[in-house]
Amino acid sequence: MLIDQYKLVKENVKAACEKAGRDPKEVTVIAVSKTKPLSMIEELMDCGVMDFGENKVQEIMKKYEEIKSPVRWHMIGHFQTNKVKYIVDKVALVHSVDSVKLARQISKEALKHKIQVPVLIQVNLAREETKSGFMEEELFGALEEISRLPGVLVQGLMQIAPFVENPENNRVYFRRMRQLFVDIKEKNFDNIAMNILSMGMTNDYQVAVEEGSTMVRVGTGIFGERDYNK
Ligand SMILES: *Cc1c(COP(=O)(O)O)cnc(C)c1O
Repeated sequence: MLIDQYKLVKENVKAACEKAGRDPKEVTVIAVSKTKPLSMIEELMDCGVMDFGENKVQEIMKKYEEIKSPVRWHMIGHFQTNKVKYIVDKVALVHSVDSVKLARQISKEALKHKIQVPVLIQVNLAREETKSGFMEEELFGALEEISRLPGVLVQGLMQIAPFVENPENNRVYFRRMRQLFVDIKEKNFDNIAMNILSMGMTNDYQVAVEEGSTMVRVGTGIFGERDYNK
């Protein structure tokens, strides 16, 4: 049963919290349902799971239409500014703000809809060419610009750590992210809250939680392997 997989993830999060002296209530598990059918999402919803992650605008729109119940959709993937209008009013949190241009467009659409859009700023700490996100040295400048945009509520930071065999190898990146998170918090920028630290995936979420993650994004570990050829 899917819910057993989900519960196992929750158990592992709890164990990681205990190890680190943290309260498990501080950590939200996002069930990353990309490529997975509605039936699987509904199976989890029926057990009370509310937070689902998707990385494609089209897929969020489709699933949003089909699932009428109030679940929280998390946009976790890179997307184009011209697609912002399709999802700003549908998602609970945009994890993947990776340019000032994207933030500006979110602001524009937020004003149109008269809403506030909670976002996270994606940081590419490992400087991987294949991944988006701000470089560490760009981060403070970007935060300053984004903090001035009406309708955009910065809630924290997000990181996609490198794919590694041994999750211990990502500990340095999680620790560094947590440090940045704390540094920014202490600077008390106007309009910038640091409440959410989104890091950790199937392969490394326990280590991420030990290092301070407050949102883990788990796909394979709940739903099984993804099949992109369907
Ligand atoms: C797909 C995806 C995940 C989940 O990956 P798993 O390894 O299957 O847990 C997490 N975050 C982002 C940004 C993703 O695109």
